[in-house]
Amino acid sequence: MRFDDLDWNDILRRGKAGIGISEDEAQALSELEDESKLVQVFSVTNALRQHFKKNEVYTCGITNAKSGACPEKCNFCSQSAHFKAAESPVYKLKSAETMVAEAQAAQAAGVREFSIVTQGRALKKREEIDEVKSALQGIRETTGMQTCASVGLIAPEHLKELQDAGMDAMHHNLETARSFHDQIVETHSYDDEVETVKAAKKLGMYVCSGGIFGMGENWGHRVELAADLRALEVDSVPLNFLNARPGTPLEGLDELTPFECLKTIALYRLMLPTKDLIVCGGRQIHLQDRQDELFLAGANGIMLGDYLTTSGGETPQDLQLLEDQGLVIRPPPHTPTAPSLAPAK
Ligand code: SF4
Repeated sequence: MRFDDLDWNDILRRGKAGIGISEDEAQALSELEDESKLVQVFSVTNALRQHFKKNEVYTCGITNAKSGACPEKCNFCSQSAHFKAAESPVYKLKSAETMVAEAQAAQAAGVREFSIVTQGRALKKREEIDEVKSALQGIRETTGMQTCASVGLIAPEHLKELQDAGMDAMHHNLETARSFHDQIVETHSYDDEVETVKAAKKLGMYVCSGGIFGMGENWGHRVELAADLRALEVDSVPLNFLNARPGTPLEGLDELTPFECLKTIALYRLMLPTKDLIVCGGRQIHLQDRQDELFLAGANGIMLGDYLTTSGGETPQDLQLLEDQGLVIRPPPHTPTAPSLAPAK
């Protein structure tokens, strides 16, 4: 199948019924090189976004709650202790009070979903789990935001504890396709990532799982990852575009163009028509002055504020970007029950 063989009316009809395009169709889309034909693609991706998400945008923010000196070896990550020349902040887990205060500040800046992110293979020390539980509880009670944590290959029983403390969503990226994963992540397997996602799904959590693009993978890998995320029935897909960090094995890799990024977003909207698609790391550096097109391509969310180890954009500019597109931030899912800054233990 070639790009020109794609039946856009049928793709739209199926998409509105919640049925994504096939892997063959996705591969045909990926072969598009004539940028002028993006208009045709956008007419469907934008219609699907509007059909399922209306004019509402999902805005997420994160805190890098425990940073650096990570024993794992993920070749894109400056936090890995294996990459001595890479620079990243190194500190122990922040206090619950600090995390709650950061969440409150993020909410005031327009964030609707707030995630606590920790380095390491898995969060498992008792005192750290208790601290994150307190933070989740405090965030939920004082902001009403959707609470999320990204805490590695966490054991199901610990995940359940966090859920009971008020964690709505779990973030855990598969990072890249199964067939490319071992070239990117050397200390744990693709199946480890999948099991973590499955454990959260089993608990009924909202699961946010996606990957990073521009790490040397090909379009077949991008389609493969989307197919796996679809099979896992994840609820949202964060799309990150590699900001290659000095000192990591991927240093100097700069394969993406705005066209490639937009085509990737479109591919994910067409394969996963009903899901939340959140454009996260690398948005500013790769999409540059074409960030307004990410919504046409089908994304319905962006990360606001800073990323894990790099600066994000200016939030007022991001909010202006949304306003210019006639988009509004989705309201928080919960009603705050406590005004205090101090989270309960
Ligand atoms: S991605 Fe996470 S697990 Fe991998 S090296 Fe970075 S902090 Fe560690």
